[in-house]
Amino acid sequence: MTITIKKYCCLLTTTFTLFFTILGCSTYAQQKNTRDAQMIKRIYDEMLTQGEAYEKLRYLCKNIGGRLSGSPQAAAAVTWGQQLMEAYGFDTVFLQEVMVPHWVRGEKEVAHIVNSRKHGKIEVNITALGNAVGTGPEGLLGQVIEVKNFKELMALGREKVAGKIVFFNRPMDQTQIQTGAAYGLAGDQRRNGPSQAAKYGAIGTIVRSLSTAFDDYPHTGTTVYADDLPKIPAIAISTNDADLLSDLLKEDPALQFYFETHCEMLPDVLSYNVVGELTGATYPDEYIVVGAHLDSWDLAEGAHDDGAGVVQSIEVLRTFKALGYQPRHSIRAVLYMNEENGLAGGRQYAVQAAKKNEKHIAAIESDIGGFTPRGFGLEMNEASLQKIQSWAPLLQPYDLHKLEAGESGADISPLKAQGTALIGLSVDTQRYFDMHHSALDVFEIVNRRELLLGSAAMASLVYLIDQYGLPYPGNGKQTE
Ligand SMILES: [Zn+2]
Repeated sequence: MTITIKKYCCLLTTTFTLFFTILGCSTYAQQKNTRDAQMIKRIYDEMLTQGEAYEKLRYLCKNIGGRLSGSPQAAAAVTWGQQLMEAYGFDTVFLQEVMVPHWVRGEKEVAHIVNSRKHGKIEVNITALGNAVGTGPEGLLGQVIEVKNFKELMALGREKVAGKIVFFNRPMDQTQIQTGAAYGLAGDQRRNGPSQAAKYGAIGTIVRSLSTAFDDYPHTGTTVYADDLPKIPAIAISTNDADLLSDLLKEDPALQFYFETHCEMLPDVLSYNVVGELTGATYPDEYIVVGAHLDSWDLAEGAHDDGAGVVQSIEVLRTFKALGYQPRHSIRAVLYMNEENGLAGGRQYAVQAAKKNEKHIAAIESDIGGFTPRGFGLEMNEASLQKIQSWAPLLQPYDLHKLEAGESGADISPLKAQGTALIGLSVDTQRYFDMHHSALDVFEIVNRRELLLGSAAMASLVYLIDQYGLPYPGNGKQTE
């Protein structure tokens, strides 16, 4: 009997200990949860009431404007970014040297359909593709041959293509709900079309604009020439003009097109990534990065692409400072140079990080427009992915539901080799490709509230990573 009582007591003690341990743990977890929820609310409240990103974007767009790599505007944007982050009193602000391509559009871009039977001469709005060679003052006149893809081009062969202007006219797939996916599916025409056409002896290329809209605005974007093929002039025309040209070609296959461009590639120039940092109290040598590209196309103000991401990234650090939040890890806002026509800044940042042995736990990029945030695209190991997904209850009240494997961003992609968890801000992209790389990308089409919500989403995720770390494959250890 004594033994039984003793045993019973022992069991009781164990049960009680276990009970209070679990209770203790869950109370601790609840406390942390409440603390995190409160901090995220403070971030949102601060940005939505005191946020400065929208006014900073106005300045960048209206006082500096389009800022293609190598341009005086890009240099002005570097100075602006540096001065702004210094004025905010970030712990460290520095410029990182990077050589960038210097492509210039030239003064004049004109084009017309020469001899349509129905309408005679028809003026067409064009834009040279980025990094393309120009026609020079003599222009380029030729018969047009339309294809939808490289397979059709190959089937036509040199016999039918040589001496002509190839017209790539495959629309973005309207049935894709993720417009980024539609952009990806249509993008080869612009990126590789000119060289593919040159392979069969074409003298020039016309590309249907990569746009989801039906309007009269041509959209530019980089083309990449193959080294071993002739570089032929390349332009984009609007979706409306592409439809018109296609219709006219059906009636009149001998239709001729004329265009004149004066763009050229000049020697590389020295430019900079701009970096601002709040130094971590516990792990100053470990970094969490938020960033975007500072350069933009020259046709407009680069408001959504990617001025929005630039001011959102700076706003993250401003907000932490305003809230008196002392990060455990070092947090950097990085404004990359030359995403649009080279990615030199993103590459250089990763090279320097490796050289200095800087451990980058996570990098977040905003480069899909300053629209309503939906969550994040996660490009990382499974353990990190699951850890971020475990924070869903903290993020869902802010309509951040998308926490899944997906694309992150071009500028941060070179950090992948170091095991950095790469994250892309996901937004509602339904309108992004209507204005992307066209004259429509101006400050007026950015919504203040949507812009700030994106920044608050980024800051919230930075805060959680800063608090709890991520499984870091670089050294196999969980960061803290
Ligand atoms: Zn961009």
